[in-house]
Amino acid sequence: MKIICIGRNYAEHAKEMNTALPAEPVFFLKPDTAIIKDNIPFYYPDFSKELHHEVELVLKINKPGKNIEPQFAHKYYDEIGIGIDFTARDIQAKCKEKGLPWEKAKAFDGSAPIGQFLNKKMFADLNEIRFHLNINGKTVQTGNTKDLLFSFDKVISYISKFITLKTGDLIFTGTPEGVGSVKIGDQLEAFIENQSRLNFEIK
Ligand code: MG
Repeated sequence: MKIICIGRNYAEHAKEMNTALPAEPVFFLKPDTAIIKDNIPFYYPDFSKELHHEVELVLKINKPGKNIEPQFAHKYYDEIGIGIDFTARDIQAKCKEKGLPWEKAKAFDGSAPIGQFLNKKMFADLNEIRFHLNINGKTVQTGNTKDLLFSFDKVISYISKFITLKTGDLIFTGTPEGVGSVKIGDQLEAFIENQSRLNFEIK
């Protein structure tokens, strides 16, 4: 399986990163070795001094698809979860400066902790899902899918023009504003609609 992450999908986050709003979805990949499940601790990597949290809703693909039209995209996922797109911001800044790929900053081992997945039928409106991240009990990021620049369906359709989606693939759908550093000892807890769905420690 693979993990596909959307960048700059919330306007306020693009603004805080001093980047332009994208005209079409921006995406990058993480390997399966990035996944951490079951609230297992995340070990702070020694190659970064500035590791950032990016809380994101995550879609789980339920069947293979290529060139999916937006109006059919909803048939390709039925579970939604929450995860962290950990980013070595110091390394990413250097990559951006030199025009190099972001993998070192984004795709490292453990860079994609994911929580429990929920059937999408549990949500009254997929275009109004609230989620947030607490660090040590304090809320640091809040998001709502009504603020997505590219909806779940548009994202699935766009990615599938380039890359065949397969069962079990995960799509990180972008982070809202409020990204910031984490440190050893922090407890990260992510919520969908005020229900805790991911909770782990940085070691
Ligand atoms: Mg992200």
